[in-house]
Amino acid sequence: MNISENLKEIKSTLPSDVTLIAVSKTKPVDDIMEAYNAGHRNFGENKIQEMESKWETLPKDIKWHMIGHVQRNKVKYMAPFVSLIHGVDSFKLLKEINKQAIKNNRVIECLLQIKIADEDSKFGMNLADASSLLDSEEYKDLGAIKVVGLMGMATFTDDENQISNEFKSLKNTFNSFKTQFSNDNTDLRILSMGMSGDYKIALKNGSNMIRVGSAIFGERNYN
Ligand SMILES: *Cc1c(COP(=O)(O)O)cnc(C)c1O
Repeated sequence: MNISENLKEIKSTLPSDVTLIAVSKTKPVDDIMEAYNAGHRNFGENKIQEMESKWETLPKDIKWHMIGHVQRNKVKYMAPFVSLIHGVDSFKLLKEINKQAIKNNRVIECLLQIKIADEDSKFGMNLADASSLLDSEEYKDLGAIKVVGLMGMATFTDDENQISNEFKSLKNTFNSFKTQFSNDNTDLRILSMGMSGDYKIALKNGSNMIRVGSAIFGERNYN
């Protein structure tokens, strides 16, 4: 297993407008430093406190992406430094992120997570709720967050057709939201979809941000 080789190989296949998030959850800081020394700067974690402790020890020019489910009472730990929060699934959460962003005198960029999978276990909003959120006055009144795109996870299945259809539907939603919603808090430009097992399918369906863990760092023992 060679992290920098894996990174190089994946990057060589990516169009230039696609951002690769190296998902380093559960992996030690030495592994992250290997990717860092190969020039990589975007890393993804799914636990806020794990991300915070890695942020404390590692170089400060790393961009940290929170890709997991976010509990409101933990937003404060990442508010000083998080680069992008992928899993926003309610107005309540957005409001808390806004509050913590104000405390830190910054604007925090977020993605709305949309449920596209045919599984109960996957988090995310339905289309009606996402669209009424982006349309609401209480959302437009928030001053310290910016919704810059959408995130989705496909069903865990071998059926590539199904995965492709789920990504396609999110891409269509993204396009239609982009024409419908644009204001001070909304600038939809990122479509975060695709992981180690399905990022090639995601790219074919219009993803411009992929979150890849095991194909870079090797299999995880848990999570
Ligand atoms: C763990 C995780 C990934 C990366 O998974 P791999 O299959 O290891 O690439 C991507 N997105 C989310 C939300 C994750 O939790």
